[in-house]
Amino acid sequence: MNRAAYSCSANTISDDRPVLLANSPLHPGFDRENLSRYSDAIWDLGPAVFRENVRRCDTRIDFESADDPIIADVIREYLYARLNIDLPGYKTRVLPVNARRLFRYALRFFSFLKIEHGTCDLGRINQALLDRYAKALQTGRRPIIVAQLLTVIFDLYAYRQFLPTAGLRFEPWPGRTVSHVAGFRFAVEENRTPRIPETVITPLLAWSLKYVTLFAPDILAARSELTQLDERRAILVAEDAMVPRNERHARRRIRVVDYLNNRRRQGRGVPVWAVRIGRLYPAPPGAAAAPLINWQLLHQQAGLDSNIQKKPPLQPTADIPDLVTAAVNEIGVEVGGMDTPISGDPDTGQPWRPRFDARALVQEERMLQAACYIVCAYLTGMRDCEVQAMRVGCLSLTRSEDGVIERYRVRSITYKGKAAQGEHAEWITIAPVAAAISVLERLVAWSTARRGTETLWPVLDLGRARKNSVLTDIVAHLNEFRDHLNTRFGTEAAPIIPAGPSGAPWRITTRQFRRTIAWHIANRPFGTIAGMIQYKHASVAAFEGYAGSSRSGFRAAVEAERRLGQIEDILAYYDDRRAGVGLSGPAAARVGQALDGAAAELQPFSGMIADRGRLRILLANTARTLHVGVLADCFFDPATAVCLRHATASDQTTPMISLCEPTRCPNACITARHRPAWARTADNARALLKEKRLSELQRSVLAREVHRIETVLSDVDDQAGHQ
Ligand code: SF4
Repeated sequence: MNRAAYSCSANTISDDRPVLLANSPLHPGFDRENLSRYSDAIWDLGPAVFRENVRRCDTRIDFESADDPIIADVIREYLYARLNIDLPGYKTRVLPVNARRLFRYALRFFSFLKIEHGTCDLGRINQALLDRYAKALQTGRRPIIVAQLLTVIFDLYAYRQFLPTAGLRFEPWPGRTVSHVAGFRFAVEENRTPRIPETVITPLLAWSLKYVTLFAPDILAARSELTQLDERRAILVAEDAMVPRNERHARRRIRVVDYLNNRRRQGRGVPVWAVRIGRLYPAPPGAAAAPLINWQLLHQQAGLDSNIQKKPPLQPTADIPDLVTAAVNEIGVEVGGMDTPISGDPDTGQPWRPRFDARALVQEERMLQAACYIVCAYLTGMRDCEVQAMRVGCLSLTRSEDGVIERYRVRSITYKGKAAQGEHAEWITIAPVAAAISVLERLVAWSTARRGTETLWPVLDLGRARKNSVLTDIVAHLNEFRDHLNTRFGTEAAPIIPAGPSGAPWRITTRQFRRTIAWHIANRPFGTIAGMIQYKHASVAAFEGYAGSSRSGFRAAVEAERRLGQIEDILAYYDDRRAGVGLSGPAAARVGQALDGAAAELQPFSGMIADRGRLRILLANTARTLHVGVLADCFFDPATAVCLRHATASDQTTPMISLCEPTRCPNACITARHRPAWARTADNARALLKEKRLSELQRSVLAREVHRIETVLSDVDDQAGHQ
């Protein structure tokens, strides 16, 4: 190993420094003395990680996983510097929550070095090696990912005075930034989190709301029923234990007979499981279709301790299995078997599912939790870590003097761009979110009570969970919810949640919700989603709450989506124009000119495909003025905006779409997309004209209105005819 320039050897000296300096915040009550030490094989940064949605394993750094003590030592040195040292003008110290990510990035680089030279010899690092590493990273990766991975190399140079072993002694890629080296074409890369398509988010939100408002009472009632059954059984079993054995068996037998008689009187069968669970309950040979009696529920309902059907013979209870088998033959079976009645689905008039059993209940509780997550994440615009930081009691209401609810507020913690502990923040929101939080508080009550937590997102299945909160498992639950809706309520030909554009089921991730609602607020505030949640009514709260919550940065997210949406919309205009689709409305000529001008600049020869990047730049100014509307799109120019005539000077920056006068304002452009709305308006006006009690004046105004609309429709049709 060349050690002339670098001292690089395994750390054999015990270094007892705590891994975090004294000014790093820790969880209240955690003794700083118990922090991991520098030379520990594993650094546990959990005491300094405050986000609720972080897995425990992601707060630990296992240096032995590097499989090379030299690599482990240089990364240890690098991470210690990044966790504890601010470099003014370069970087502040990394949050402990991000340290494991840096560990992975550094491990990748030093492993590359080892593969190239057979050993992690830092003296062999030169620009040629860095170029080879950058090139290797660029294969199949987006520039943003490459930039993240290359950051380590820039850090090794910037922090060199604090890295006696790992510091880089020459400037990598002199004069170039990490984004340039990574291959960015622009300084800021577009948000690559996919927006959930409208065909997916519309039914997903509708069914989530259905779960929260219609199905939740049944699910909560079923949990209450099971809890009561267990409590009653515990009392009966305790009483049984006090009496002699023969009497005990006799009492149990009487209870089973009474139970079966009851079922008979109610016209209900013996409870059976809905499905066999393969390995747990294999069907006996030749009896594949035999119903699988739900002994667990039968014991709970009859007040017996478990496994009584397996008692040895010669006891008064030995014939209970025979009694039950006889009852199955006489009164049949009932899938589910619990007593909680199932509400009707107003869309079908049928119960929304068969009766519950314990297993189905656990699944439906998980689905309800996923539905609540969708409602909360989508309709608040909160990030996953903000949603998962919600606690029991986070919802508050503000009422007016006469008791009417004026505002719903959600309290949580926002982390992005904040200190490690985050900052308390408040989101003003709307009634469906309040309903979801209320349901969640009841849904999680029994789980949080047993776990001693206050999170709204515990793992509900107490039997299986090895952790308290759902954390990253929420992604699996969300996609399970998508599949559950399709299996239970849809068909193969007509799924509830259709496939995504690729033809495969749309994979839901937590980040997509914030981006999708930001786009809807910015670009389609009147769309189908808006109609579903009475968005117009909610828009004031939405903007004060979603966009106004400056601490969470949602206003910036909405504005970013507005810019992206405007570019997408102007490109759609451009494509339509190239395809020969005409425009109408007062702004048609101006907009057409801008589109043709861009086309002329980009496509001097017919048949050439426009460079989308240049097109975006050429149309950027026009795009910035574009606001999509219901009856017309607005290419906003405040100097001529008809809707702003009565607005104050401070209101002149955005169009007042709700006061739009599309046939009179020189900024209005009407396309075929607006035709259905105009046709509906014409139908309404014609229907009103049939009203006999109209005055002459009213009749003449309406007739003029119909004529005006028909002119618009005929213009749109003429332009369509020009295709
Ligand atoms: S009247 Fe309509 S088209 Fe004109 S500026 Fe206002 S919103 Fe835009």
